[in-house]
Amino acid sequence: MKHVASVLACVIALLPSTVLAQTTAHSSGGPTASADQRLKRLVSSISEERLQSIVAKLASFGTRETLSDTSSSTRGIGAARQWILEELKSSSSKLEVSFDTYQIAPQGRILRSVELRNVIAVLPGKTSRRVYVSGHYDSLNLGPGVSALLASATLEALVTNPQVQPTFDHEAMAPGADDDASGTALTMELARVFANSGIDFDATLVFACWAGEEQGLVGSSVHAQKLAREKVVVEAMLNNDIVGGIRAGNGVVDAADVRVYSIGPEDSMSRSLARYVQWAADVYVPSHRVRLMAREDRFGRGSDHSSFTSVGYPAVVFRESKENLSIQHSADDMPDGVNAVYLAQNARIDAAAAASLALAPPAPKVTDDRGQPLIARDPSGYDANLQWAASPGAIAYHIYWRDAGSNDWERDQIVGNATHFVLHNVSIDDFVFGVAAVDSDGHQSLISAYVASDRPIPLVKLAH
Ligand SMILES: [Zn+2]
Repeated sequence: MKHVASVLACVIALLPSTVLAQTTAHSSGGPTASADQRLKRLVSSISEERLQSIVAKLASFGTRETLSDTSSSTRGIGAARQWILEELKSSSSKLEVSFDTYQIAPQGRILRSVELRNVIAVLPGKTSRRVYVSGHYDSLNLGPGVSALLASATLEALVTNPQVQPTFDHEAMAPGADDDASGTALTMELARVFANSGIDFDATLVFACWAGEEQGLVGSSVHAQKLAREKVVVEAMLNNDIVGGIRAGNGVVDAADVRVYSIGPEDSMSRSLARYVQWAADVYVPSHRVRLMAREDRFGRGSDHSSFTSVGYPAVVFRESKENLSIQHSADDMPDGVNAVYLAQNARIDAAAAASLALAPPAPKVTDDRGQPLIARDPSGYDANLQWAASPGAIAYHIYWRDAGSNDWERDQIVGNATHFVLHNVSIDDFVFGVAAVDSDGHQSLISAYVASDRPIPLVKLAH
């Protein structure tokens, strides 16, 4: 591969950029390696029946509201989190399962101090860098009529949240089947199939069931902030929130697509992760389509991926293609609104992306210690001179580029085990460039793009 790549590099070096565009044009937006048979088996071991039974069980707790009862063994968030913990523990002895507990002071929609517990299952890898899969297990009933208002109201009408009223009923029926027992079931099922796959992953996988999402991403925020303080490396976070329904409130049905939202700018690592998810879907779940949404989330809505992006970790959120807004945050969000066949397809895409990433080397670092991109016009002054730091485990690197006016990679080239490559007569001002690390089995990392830093404009002083 190294020899072929260097020959190719020499050939390409001789070509003007116009010819280059024709000779190496490539439609791929992600790794070109063929499917890994072990990952195919992992993806196919996801059980629709198990997803369905987890959603039904979670709904049976009546409510999982963050401030609901913790003394009952059958109803409320206390019973729900205990069941999730035990279910994860019984899935595999390889999983390190625990409560991730915090004492939260009264603030915002949390009207009294509360002991909040995320439920976390860790599958240790060969390295400590982490790949997260998550959903939130807490649920919410905003009260009679509010969910219908949510479906039809302007955003301004939602400013007063009933949760801040002292009379708010934390014990009201909140089955939360789609929001978000669906994402929790997906997370728990992936924990089971990854731990039982027999695959030795390079990255450590973390399956996280968050609490406090409905009060403002509380559980995921406090967890992500702790990770950042402790300088834990998080390669990717795949969040799943409302991923089981196929029928919108207006009757439109779509069981063939899932939306993946990612925060910009265009070449952020979260955007790179979203493209990677789409690639994994194309290779491992071709019967299901990822629609990339180049925005953080839907209007006026949010979820736990933002807790991770806000501290600098790449994260995306999966959302079903057609939402029934009228049942969300009400007693009507029942298991019959979750389609297990559809939920399983979404779970397979999560699994393919998380497993591919956890087997691949880390994404190459393409910036210097001051955060400046390692890109220049040397040697001619009109070349693309790319540098990057070596990724542990990589035996080759995969260069991607595209016209700066387009939003997906158009051309690519494998360049062997180097940390430096020159594309002659390809203008760094006209094209966007990225590089990914590849291991000996062809597993490929996220693509790190070279992004220009902001150039602050100094304030001009006026003479008086
Ligand atoms: Zn939700």
